[in-house]
Amino acid sequence: MWNFRGKTKTKLMLIVGGACVAAGCGLYVVVRGDPSQVLQLDYTTLMSHAKSGDVKEVSFDGARIAGELTSGAHFTGEVPNGATQAALADRLAERGIAVRFASSGGVDPVQVATTLVMAISLGGLLFVLVRKNPGAFGTEARKAVNLETSPVKFIDVDGVDEAKNELQEIVQFLKTPERFTRLGGRIPRGVLLVGPPGTGKTLLARAVAGEAGVPFYAISGSEFVEMFVGVGARRVRNLFAQARKAAPCIVFIDEVDAIGRQRGGPSNGHNEEREQALNQLLVEMDGFDQHATIVVMAATNRHDVLDEALLRPGRFDRRVTVDRPDIRGRRRILEVHTRGTPLFPDVDLHKVARGTPGMTGAELANLVNEAALSAAREGREEVRMADFETARDKVTMGVERTSAVMTEPERERIAIHEAGHALAAFRLPAADPVHKVSIIPRGSALGITMQLPDHDRNMYSREYLESQIAVLMAGRVAEERMLGSFASGSANDIERATSIARKMVRQLGMSRIGPVVCLERGAQGGRGDFLSEYSVHTELRIDEEVERILSDGLRTAQEIVGSDARALEALRQVLLEEETIDHARFACVVAAAGLEAA
Ligand code: ADP
Ligand code: MG
Ligand code: ZN
Repeated sequence: MWNFRGKTKTKLMLIVGGACVAAGCGLYVVVRGDPSQVLQLDYTTLMSHAKSGDVKEVSFDGARIAGELTSGAHFTGEVPNGATQAALADRLAERGIAVRFASSGGVDPVQVATTLVMAISLGGLLFVLVRKNPGAFGTEARKAVNLETSPVKFIDVDGVDEAKNELQEIVQFLKTPERFTRLGGRIPRGVLLVGPPGTGKTLLARAVAGEAGVPFYAISGSEFVEMFVGVGARRVRNLFAQARKAAPCIVFIDEVDAIGRQRGGPSNGHNEEREQALNQLLVEMDGFDQHATIVVMAATNRHDVLDEALLRPGRFDRRVTVDRPDIRGRRRILEVHTRGTPLFPDVDLHKVARGTPGMTGAELANLVNEAALSAAREGREEVRMADFETARDKVTMGVERTSAVMTEPERERIAIHEAGHALAAFRLPAADPVHKVSIIPRGSALGITMQLPDHDRNMYSREYLESQIAVLMAGRVAEERMLGSFASGSANDIERATSIARKMVRQLGMSRIGPVVCLERGAQGGRGDFLSEYSVHTELRIDEEVERILSDGLRTAQEIVGSDARALEALRQVLLEEETIDHARFACVVAAAGLEAA
C-alpha cells in the first residue's frame, strides 16, 4: 500500500510535511497567546520584579513586552512612552534577565493569518526548489547519473584510428582485468580525450564501454555550473559510489573543463561549486584501490585550461587526441552514416569527402542527414550526388538566400569579382584548383569562389600563401579593371589577405625579417612576455614587410587580370547566365578563352 513510486512519494511527503508545519505554526501562536493566564504588569511593577530577581525572561515585540516570572506566571506589558526598547532591554539584561526580541502577543488574527501564509508559501517554495533541482535535496539522487549499457561499438566510430588503437588497451583491461593485474601492470585510471567538438569523443567513450560490455556512467561538467554549492561534490560522490558497486565499468565525464578549470580566480558561487566538485573528483580518483576496475574517461576541447592537479599521475595521466578526420577518415565516416541510406549510383562518397575538408564527424553526420532531407523534399526514394552538393553548401555556407534581391548592376559586379578570384586561382601554380564559382549569395557572402586542394593540406608553403593573397586581391582588381572602380564587397578579402601577410611576417618567418616570432603586443596568448620583446624599429619593419607582401600580391593579381581579359569576360558572361559553375564547366570556359593553367 505504501509502495509509491519515487516521485509520488516525495510529493506526498512534502504535502504532509507542509501541512504539519502550517498547523504547528498556528497552534504555537494560539497557545502562546492565551490571554486568560497572563498578568498585566505596568512598568514600575515590572522593574521592581526585575530588581528582586523574580523575572525569568522578557521578550519585546515593538512596544509590547511579554515574559515569564520565575514563578512560571506569564505577563505582558508595554514599553512606557518616552523610553526606548533598547534602553529598557539593557537595564533588564544588566540584571541577568534573558531578553529576547520575538513576537508573543495575544491572539492576533492578522498575525495568525500571516504566519499561515508564510508557512504555506515556504512549503510551496521548497516544493518548487525540490522539483527544479532534484539532486540538490537528495530526493532523486539516482537521476544525477546517467547509466546506460552502450550499444555503440568501435565500428560506429571511424576516421580516428589512432585514438581507437590507444583505447583498445582499455577495452582489454576492462574485459580481463586479471590478465593485467597478474603481471603487475599499472592500468591507467583516467583517460583524457582531447579534441574539437563533434570529433566523436563521447562516441568513443561509449564505444569502449560497448566493446568491453561494461556499464557506462556519464555525467557532464556543464551540469555543475548552475547548481548550489555542495551539490556537485555530492553528485560526484554518488557517481563513484555507484560505479564502485558496478565495477568493472566506465565513468565518463563530458566537458570536464567546466569543473576542472584551474582553481583560484574570483570567488563566486559558481567557482566555489566547481572547486568543490573538482576536489571531490580528485579525492575519488585517489581513493580507488589498486584492484578496482573502474576507468574514468573525460572529454574536453580545452585541455589547456585544465587544473594541473587533474593531469598528475594516477589521475588523467593518459591523453588521447581525437582529431578532425582526414580525407580517408571522412570517407569512412560518411560510409558509417550512410549505412542505412539508399544511395543512387552517382553518389561518390570519396568525392564528397574531398569536398568537406575540416569537417568533423558530427558535421558529416549532419551532412548526410541534410542530403537525405533534400532527397525527401523532392519526393525521391534515393539520395543523389546533387543532394550532397546542396547539403554541403547548406552546412558550410549557411542556407541559400534565394530571396535576396540583387540589382542587375550588383550581380554584374559580383560576377566580375568572382571571375577575378577564379582566374587568379587558375593561373597561379601554387594555388588550390578552382572547385566551384557561384554568384548566389549565401549567408553573408555575396558570391563565392571555392578552391579545393587535391589532398588535405597540413603545411603551407610561402608560395602557396603568396598565391592565396594574390587570389584574394584579384576580385577587387577585376572590378577595378572592368568597371573602373571597386566596391565594399572586397572588405573581407582584404581582411583575410592582411591576416595571412601578418602571420607570414610575425609567426612564420616568411619575410625579410627572417625567422623571428614577433607576435602582436598584448596578444600573448598565455605564452609569456617574450613575444613582445622586439624593438620599435622591428615593429616598423614588420609593417613595411606586411605592406610589401600585400602589394606584391596586388601586383600579381593585376598582371593576371590584365593579361587574361578575354577569359575574364567569358567567365563574367557564363556566371551571369548560369550563376553557379563547377570545376569542369570552369575548365571548359577558360580553355575556350584560350587559356591553359600555368
Ligand atoms: P564530441 O563528443 O567529440 O563533441 P560526439 O561523440 O558527441 O562528439 O559526436 C556527435 C555525433 O557525431 C556522434 O553521435 C556521431 O553521430 C557523429 N560522429 C562524430 N564523430 C564521429 C566519428 N569519428 N565516426 C562516426 N560518427 C561520428
Ligand atoms: Mg561530446
Ligand atoms: Zn572576394
